[in-house]
Amino acid sequence: MKHGIFHLGLAVTLTLTGCNINIGGSDDDENQGTSGKATQYLVEIASATEGIGAREASTEQEVRAGNWIYDKLTGFGYDVTVQPFSYQQNGMMLSSKNYIIEKKGKIDKTIILAAHYDSTGSEHDSLGATDNGAGLAAAISLAEQLKGKSLPYNVRILLPGAEENGLNGSLHYVKQALKTGELENVIGMINYDTIGGGDIVYVHAAHSDYDEYDGICKKLSLDKTDYSAATTMRDAMLEASIAVKGESGKFVVHPAFPGYPEGETGSWSDHAGFACAGIPIAYVEATNFNINGKGGYDGYSQTTHPDTWDCYETWTASACDRKTETQWGRIWHTGYDRLEKLEELFPGRVNEQLNNNVAIALELLTNEKYIKTAP
Ligand SMILES: [Zn+2]
Repeated sequence: MKHGIFHLGLAVTLTLTGCNINIGGSDDDENQGTSGKATQYLVEIASATEGIGAREASTEQEVRAGNWIYDKLTGFGYDVTVQPFSYQQNGMMLSSKNYIIEKKGKIDKTIILAAHYDSTGSEHDSLGATDNGAGLAAAISLAEQLKGKSLPYNVRILLPGAEENGLNGSLHYVKQALKTGELENVIGMINYDTIGGGDIVYVHAAHSDYDEYDGICKKLSLDKTDYSAATTMRDAMLEASIAVKGESGKFVVHPAFPGYPEGETGSWSDHAGFACAGIPIAYVEATNFNINGKGGYDGYSQTTHPDTWDCYETWTASACDRKTETQWGRIWHTGYDRLEKLEELFPGRVNEQLNNNVAIALELLTNEKYIKTAP
C-alpha cells in the first residue's frame, strides 16, 4: 500500500530456484499459543540477514518470497494453487504469481483472507517488515494452525504478488474468479496489509461512496451496481477482537474525518477488487488517524514517535512546520520498516500486534457466531 504511490521494481528475468529456504528457525513444534510461529515467520520474511528481506514486485526477491510461501504451505500439507499473471507497467510486461490455499468448512460459504507478499521502498532501505511482512507472517501462521481445526466456513488464503505497484495480483485473482464463479459463495474478505508498526490497529470497511473505488472497479469491468460497502466483515472482526482482547485491546474503528466517514477506507489495497465484486471486506491496518498528516486526517501518518518526524508538535497533532516536514510519521516504504528499526522505536510492539492479529483471525475463522448476516 498505498495512496497510489506505486514504485516500479526492477524487471528481472524470473528464474525459479525451487529452493527450500530454511533460515534461522528451529524445527521444534512446541506450542507457542494461538499466535503460533508468526514471529519466527516474520524474521524469515523480512530480515535481510536471516531471511529474504526486500521483495519488490516482479524481482528475483519477490520470486524468492513466493517460493518460501509455497514451501511453507506444502509443508503444512496444503495443495497450493499457483496463479501466474502478467501486467503492464510503464510499457513493460511484468510477471508475478498469486498463491492460494483453501480449507473446507462445514457450511459451503467462504471467507477469503489476503496478505500481499511483495514490498516497496527498498530505495529508502525499507525491508517491508510491517508492509507487508507482518500480514504475510500472520497469514502463514494462520494457515498452519487452521490445518488441525474444524471450521464453520471454508477459509481461502490468498497471497497476492505485485500489490505495491497497482494491486496487480489481487485484481488478477478477482478477474479470474469472476469468470470461474469462485466468488459466488464468498461471504467476506479480510485484507491484512500492514497489520503492525503503526500506533493503533484499525479495522475498516469499504467506502460508502462508490466513486472512491470507481477507478479500480472499472479495471475489472465492474460498476456501482456490483459494489458493496457492507460492514458485516468489519463488524465481525471487531466482535472477534473484543472476544480475544477485551474492550481495551480491541480493533479500533476510526472516527469520521473529511473524506473518510467513520470506519471506512479507500481503494489503495487488495480489498478494493473484492468490494468492487460485491463482497463485504474488513481491512486491518496499523496506523494513526489522529495525526493531521500531509494530506490531513487520512491515516497515512502512522505514528507520533518523534524519530519519524523532523519535528512533531503534540498540541496540533502535526508537523511543527508543515512546509518543511519530510517524514510525516511514516513507517511504510521507509527505512523504519525494518525489524531492527521497529524494535528500537517500539520495543515489543510489532510482535504483540502480529500475535494479536493471528489470535483474532483464528477466533473469527473457527467460530460461526461472528458473521451476523451471511448473504
Ligand atoms: Zn502493503
